[in-house]
Formats: sequence, structure tokens, C-alpha cells
Amino acid sequence: MNVLVLNSGSSSLKFQLIATDLDRILKNEDQRLCRGVIERIGGEAIITAAIGQQPRTVFTAPLANLPAALDFLIRWIVSEESSISDIQSASDIHAVGHRVVHGGEKFSESAVITDEVLKDIEACIDLAPLHNPANVKCIQAVRKLLGPKLPQVAVFDTAFHHALPEHAYLYAVPYHLYRRHHIRRYGFHGTSHRYVAYRYRFLNHLTREKTHVITLHLGNGCSAAAIRNGYPVDTSMGMTPLEGLVMGTRSGDVDPAVVNLIATKEGLSTQEVESLLNTQSGLLGISGLTNDMRVLQQELKEHDDRRVRLAIDVFCYRAKKYIGSYLACMGGADALVFTGGIGENSPDIRKQICEGLDWFGLRLDEEKNAQAIGKEERITTDDSKLHAFVIPTDEELLIARDTVRCVLGEPHPS
Ligand code: ADP
Repeated sequence: MNVLVLNSGSSSLKFQLIATDLDRILKNEDQRLCRGVIERIGGEAIITAAIGQQPRTVFTAPLANLPAALDFLIRWIVSEESSISDIQSASDIHAVGHRVVHGGEKFSESAVITDEVLKDIEACIDLAPLHNPANVKCIQAVRKLLGPKLPQVAVFDTAFHHALPEHAYLYAVPYHLYRRHHIRRYGFHGTSHRYVAYRYRFLNHLTREKTHVITLHLGNGCSAAAIRNGYPVDTSMGMTPLEGLVMGTRSGDVDPAVVNLIATKEGLSTQEVESLLNTQSGLLGISGLTNDMRVLQQELKEHDDRRVRLAIDVFCYRAKKYIGSYLACMGGADALVFTGGIGENSPDIRKQICEGLDWFGLRLDEEKNAQAIGKEERITTDDSKLHAFVIPTDEELLIARDTVRCVLGEPHPS
């Protein structure tokens, strides 16, 4: 089954075409036919694409909106120019899997998109006004372009965290606010946490019930999840992706009283303060330089900039603090799992986060840590009580696999 995986944002569309089926999933032999991203939709869009394992190419096209971008993408996929093996026409795309950000309290797993499911996704727009509208538009555009018979599946960022216990997801605000407005913690990056927890148990020959890990997704967005018996018992993002760890441009946890204070002192509306906490804070806000960890590390090496050091220190300290609290909440764990652009590629950040965790029995193997860049690896010594792993995430693969399983009506094992 050729599955087109789509991740739509307000002005971008990430895509992958993956050939997979139940047999390939079992053998881990899914095949990536192409991948890429269309950015700056609304003007002269930039398309970055790669076929199979070939190097990526970059080109531009005027694309006014998401339906135009999608139309362009399908034409490109079936064109002779892309020459993707097995794809001659749009009918060779057998299903579409969408990353949908918010599934609210409704969705505990991925779902085939029916009219009713689409309505339920629309109903979640209130909870994720920045993200869900693009997902809905994308689903509708696919229907229009490829016909209503083509199966489409929604894979929710929140679904994995559906298992959170009440005491972990409730905020200590008047209970009627939860009842009236569904104000609670939902958690995000669920597909990533679920994928790396699955890979961890696969690599260590464990059952789901024996999987006790803390997963740290450290990318531009960052979140942690405490996973006990294979399911999350806590996670760091909340009602929106703003809560929790320090991120590229998001503050993570702050005292909610600062919102009003900043608004008053800076003459901003509360919406503007929320936007400042989402887009001007985190690594960017503290360093005053960039949200890009690679650039910060380079700057630190070359100029030993104090605010850059501070940004990295606050980032690592917050992550460590969450690890400590999760170890307490979940009664201990067997391993930490690092993933995301920073977690997968930066030995220095992993080392700084792990420093001082020897009390919990974590002993970093410095050599293994230095070598574990973008690949699956244990980075602790054999005698560690608390291990650490690097496991690159692959949300698109999980979306493709869920799509196949949903379309065939199979249960979701991972
Ligand atoms: P997104 O959340 O947008 O998917 P990624 O998971 O790609 O983001 O992570 C982006 C972050 O990963 C950036 O801060 C980038 O600097 C960082 N990163 C990527 N490679 C490295 C590296 N080799 N060393 C340190 N940081 C890295």
C-alpha cells in the first residue's frame, strides 16, 4: 500500500510517500519512496524534495494556497520528472495519513476519517486554533482532489497521552472550567513518544508492560513523557504545546501571573504576550541570538557568550528537573530515551542533562555518547541502573503504519 503522509501547517506542507503493508511492518521493511516539504505557501513557494535515498533537490513554484500546493505535489509525484518507481498515476496512492495536532478528549487512537470524524476534528479547533484548521483544510483538499473514496486516516499528536491519569492532566483551577471549556493538560508529540518507546522495547526485547522509560523529545519543540507499563503517566506539554520544557522559541513553564505583568508593563494584549511566549522566548529569548541549538553551541565554542551559555544551562536544567520529578512520579524508570533534532544529534546537551544523575544509577559512557549521532544506541555503561538511549524519531513511519492498520481494520500494536 502506498501511503501519502501529510503534515500541514499554516504555510507549509511536509510530505512522505511510504510503501508499506502488514507484512512489511512485521519485517520492518517499509520503503520510503519520496519525502520533502513545501514552504512559504501563499507566494513563491519553496519545494525541497528527495526521491528514495537520493540527495534532495530544491525548486520554487507560485502556490497560492494549500489546495494549490497539494495539487502541485500530486502532479509532481506522478510526473516523469520525479520518476518514483511504482507510481504512474494518482490512483497508485492508496491512502493518505494526516498528522492532526489536537484530538481533544475524543480520540485515544488513530481513526479513519469519516464525515463524523472530520466534524470531531473541527470541534477541536477551539483547543488548537493555530494547528487544527490547517489539518482540516488539508483533509478537505485531499477529498476534493483525489475523491471521497480514497481512505484518509488521522493520527493525533495527543492520542498517546489519552491514557494520562486524572491527577496528571487536571490543572488545579476551579473544576467547572474543566467541565465547561475542557481546560486540562493534553500533551503533544504523542506520535514521537510512542514511536521511540516502541523502538526501545523492540531493541531490548521487552513487552509493552515491561516498558518503563522517560522519553525526551528535544527538537525545536521539546517535551518529555513518563511512560510506565508502556503508557504515559505524565507528559510536559499541557493544554497547548507551550507548557513544560524550554524550547527553541517557547518559554515552557512560567508563572501564569507574568502574562498580565508583561501585558501591563509592555503595553501588550494578553494574546500578544501569549505569542511572545510562543515565538520570542526559550533559547531565542534568553540568548537574544537564535533558536537554533547548533548555532548556539558554535557561538559558545567561538566566543564563550554569557547569554548563550545561560540559554543552554536553563534548557538542560529544566530537562533534568523533569527527569527527576518523573522518576519520583513513576516510581523509577529503566531508561531515558533521547530523540528529536537536539536529542539525537548533540552529545554535549545529553551529557549536560545527564550530569548529576549518577545518584539514580546513570553512568554515561562518554565514548558511546560521542558516537551516537542520529542513530539508535545505548549511551550508558553496562553497570548503569538507569540507562540512556538515543533513538531517532520517525513520526511519518508511524503515521503510515497506523494508516495501513486503520484502513485494514487491524488493531494498533505499537
Ligand atoms: P522540529 O521540532 O522543528 O522538527 P528538529 O527535531 O529538526 O525540529 O530539531 C531542530 C533542532 O535540532 C534545532 O535546534 C537544531 O539546531 C538542533 N540540531 C540539529 N542537529 C544538531 C546537532 N548536530 N547538534 C546540536 N543541535 C542540533
